[in-house]
Amino acid sequence: MGQVVNLRQRISTPLTATAFLTALAMLLVCSMPFYAETKRQLQQRAEGAVAELPIVLRRSAGQLHAAMSELPQAPGFRQQLRGAAPLLLENIPFHAALFSETGALLWQSSEWQGLPLLSEQQLATLLSGADVVGYWHANGRVYQLLFRHWPEASERILVLGRALDLPLLSGLLTASGLQFGVFSAEHLVVRISPDDEAGVGRRVGQHYLLSPTLAGQPPLRLEILSSSGWLPTYWWLMCLGVLLLAPLSAWWVAQRHANALAKPLAVLTKQLQAYGEGQPIDSLAVRSNTEEILGLSYAFDSMLGLLRRREENLRYRATHDLLTGMKNQNELLRIVSQRISEARAFDRPFHLVGININNFREINDVFGPDIADACLVNIGAYLERENLVAARFYRGGIAVVKEGVADDVAAVVLAMQLSRHHGISKFDIELNVCTGIVGFPSDADNAETLLRRLEITLDSARRAPYNFHRYKPGQEEDYVKRLSLVEQLRVAMIDWHAGLQMFYQPKLNLGSGRIERMEALIRWQHPQHGSISPDHFIPLAEQAGLIGALSNWVIAQVCAQLALWREHGLDLQVAVNLSVQDIVRPDMLDVIETQRKKYDLPASVLAFEITETELMENPGEAMRLLNKFRAAGYGLAIDDFGTGYSSLSQVKNMPVNEIKIDRDFVRQLRVDEDDQKIVRTTLALADYFDLEAVAEGVEDAASLHMLSEWGCQWAQGYYISPPMPGVDVRQWLESFHEGDTVPLGIMPGEASN
Ligand code: C2E
Ligand code: CA
Ligand code: CA
Repeated sequence: MGQVVNLRQRISTPLTATAFLTALAMLLVCSMPFYAETKRQLQQRAEGAVAELPIVLRRSAGQLHAAMSELPQAPGFRQQLRGAAPLLLENIPFHAALFSETGALLWQSSEWQGLPLLSEQQLATLLSGADVVGYWHANGRVYQLLFRHWPEASERILVLGRALDLPLLSGLLTASGLQFGVFSAEHLVVRISPDDEAGVGRRVGQHYLLSPTLAGQPPLRLEILSSSGWLPTYWWLMCLGVLLLAPLSAWWVAQRHANALAKPLAVLTKQLQAYGEGQPIDSLAVRSNTEEILGLSYAFDSMLGLLRRREENLRYRATHDLLTGMKNQNELLRIVSQRISEARAFDRPFHLVGININNFREINDVFGPDIADACLVNIGAYLERENLVAARFYRGGIAVVKEGVADDVAAVVLAMQLSRHHGISKFDIELNVCTGIVGFPSDADNAETLLRRLEITLDSARRAPYNFHRYKPGQEEDYVKRLSLVEQLRVAMIDWHAGLQMFYQPKLNLGSGRIERMEALIRWQHPQHGSISPDHFIPLAEQAGLIGALSNWVIAQVCAQLALWREHGLDLQVAVNLSVQDIVRPDMLDVIETQRKKYDLPASVLAFEITETELMENPGEAMRLLNKFRAAGYGLAIDDFGTGYSSLSQVKNMPVNEIKIDRDFVRQLRVDEDDQKIVRTTLALADYFDLEAVAEGVEDAASLHMLSEWGCQWAQGYYISPPMPGVDVRQWLESFHEGDTVPLGIMPGEASN
């Protein structure tokens, strides 16, 4: 990867370099004609200057120089003067005088003596018409000599001289911009800036001969001296300026340009970064006058909008139940955690009310899922109207977060309100709603536990009075134990070694004195926990929905046992206990029939016991199915009769042929007169309604006696025999019928004695 540079560098560096190179190239290209032109102009100027020199020289002849005073004293001046102007001096007598510029007589030849002096005015007039007769070089200076005939005396001549070097040369320099020097033969005699040695070097070639010179002197030449270079200094300054300014201005423009690009990009990058880090950003729009940047910013901004909508949508989906619009379990967990922190900080207790629809499954089955969902939506809308913080949680349940300590009555009332008839499409649906409560800080110290316990509470509320339950300390531990038992029970049904087994308890026919029937009672000898009572694990199986499988297992066991006994000539009827869930199972009868037919058993060898309480729970449904049982030829008994407070007239309408008087009324029969009354009345009424009666829980001879006396047909209890494994039954029966176990005193014949 190459070196990373920023946008400013990326733009300004090449631009500056390009500007510099371009300026350089342009200067080179432009300077060539300029150079040539300058050279040409210089040449021209030199030529012009030289051409104009005589005029210049003449024009400047109006001034005399004070230094001319030296001239007459100079040795050989007179001779030299003659040499310079031989013609002039030949024809006229040498009357010569030298005057200062102010008209003062500086020198006079002997011939001039006695002539009048000149005024300044007169001298100026004389000089204006003077002729230049020559030049003279002495003492490092150059003089111009002018002659004039004295107007009043023709024999007299006026010689006027002046130093023309410095004034002339500086005048020439100002006028032409060129350096001039005066050369005597090849020697430089005078030039304008004597200290500029370097500038002397080149002679341009154009020259003007200052002639004639006075005799004895080499000719004087006025020559142009080249300056040190052809191009003037301002040209070089301009070049330097251009070379400096071009990249500098390019750099400045580039910086501005780059800034215009880089700044909004940097802002955009910063905002995007901030957005990426989750900081709140209102908009990704940046200010710029660059179309592309505006386009980019607009694209990012609309992308932000889109992302935000998507994010909101995702957040909604992540935190809400899409069906009801209530919050979902995750969100509930978050809310509860937050409430716990607040409760801790401000000492403000709160509680959760769990809501569950007990008959949701039935509604789903009967009316279809759309209607069932609509019920939930209705509930959600109701809770929303009531401004309650509600969330879906646990298989279809709803949790409501409420301030303050738990209010049981409010929860029950809420359940009643939610149970009301829901008019959905054309149906009028009544929900069976249960509610449960867990409180903070009383029932848990964190959100997860609180919600888990709310779930357990709802599980209990389903079967509790008023369909309401409040969490009890230790309930979760029990629940967990029960759950693990259920799991083990599931295993026990397929694993012989897990201790599940059928026991059989004889029912004594008090009329015949014979054991003709048995009750099948399930036993679970748990490998770790020892014997577990069916009173404990049957309800567990019912709650866990395992009872169907368990009953199937029992029926299979019982049928196999019956077949085995029949092989040994034992003709027994076995009563199997069914739970209410069994009798409303549409396939129950099929399962029984299949097993029965598998072992080729007649229907009469099987009977079924259903507890009175369970029967009363769902009389209509139960009745329909029990009728089918009866029609198929099976015996049916109402178990634990007397505990369900059903009237005998109700029982009369049930398709049963037997009632089993609950053992609670029988066990103390010998001593409890109330029980005696109840049992006697029950027996009388059973007789009246033509139902067989079985007294269970017979624990002593006296009770058996009484029952026999009162006309009870069947007796069952520890006194006769506790439940025993199927394999023991044959032997026990043999000894029983031989009269070893049961005292003769209880035999029917004797009972009446
Ligand atoms: P249940 O149907 O009323 O069964 C009679 C219960 O009374 C049995 O208890 C039996 O052992 C007990 N018992 C028998 N004689 C006496 C006695 O003289 N005195 C006393 N105090 N008790 C006596 P178990 O076996 O513990 O069964 C309890 C309940 O469990 C049963 O009550 C029945 O409702 C249920 N159950 C037992 N086996 C099954 C089964 O296979 N399926 C179903 N669904 N329920 C069963
Ligand atoms: Ca029973
Ligand atoms: Ca019973």
